[in-house]
Amino acid sequence: MDQIKIGKFIAECRKKKNLTQAQLAEKLNITNRAISKWETGKAMPDSNIMFDLCDILEITVNELLSGEIIDMEQKEEQLNDLIFQMAQNEERYHKRLRHSAYVIIATSLSALICLITLISLLIPECGFQYFLIIVSIILFIIPCIIALKFKVETGYYECKNCQHMFVPNYKEIALLMQTPTRRLLKCTKCGKWTWCEKVLKK
Ligand SMILES: [Zn+2]
Repeated sequence: MDQIKIGKFIAECRKKKNLTQAQLAEKLNITNRAISKWETGKAMPDSNIMFDLCDILEITVNELLSGEIIDMEQKEEQLNDLIFQMAQNEERYHKRLRHSAYVIIATSLSALICLITLISLLIPECGFQYFLIIVSIILFIIPCIIALKFKVETGYYECKNCQHMFVPNYKEIALLMQTPTRRLLKCTKCGKWTWCEKVLKK
């Protein structure tokens, strides 16, 4: 608690009410010196006087203790800002995840192509060559599953029919038709198949 700030605030409120220190002291049944001590930050009003003081100054105890008028509108604005920021962070996180998914798929695909080319160049066509190619393809599938997980976790799809937002399952993400921003999906709410639009936040 900032006693100096509280003191200045008490003085300010008293002056707003057109009261002298003596008049306020009289109303509270205390000495002028006590008021002077509060206003210079040397002492705090006792808790038994605090309510009467707030009553006279028409402020809340909360305002008295924070040394300022608490503006409800300002509070609400701060809260809205906070919510907006949180939504933005979520969107940024989703964008990053999606970007990682593309990087993983592109890297794995290039690696796979290089590997298969090398295998076919260096190893004569035989059972061992096919075996190596199959192993490479399996190795490629693992990062793709990870990338797929990223893609599922990035944002939502909005049903064209009922505007319901939902996250499709892995099977749908992997198998069904899609464009970069839309995907043919069955809505989890209305059950209709539509070209759902990708949205990064609700
Ligand atoms: Zn729907």
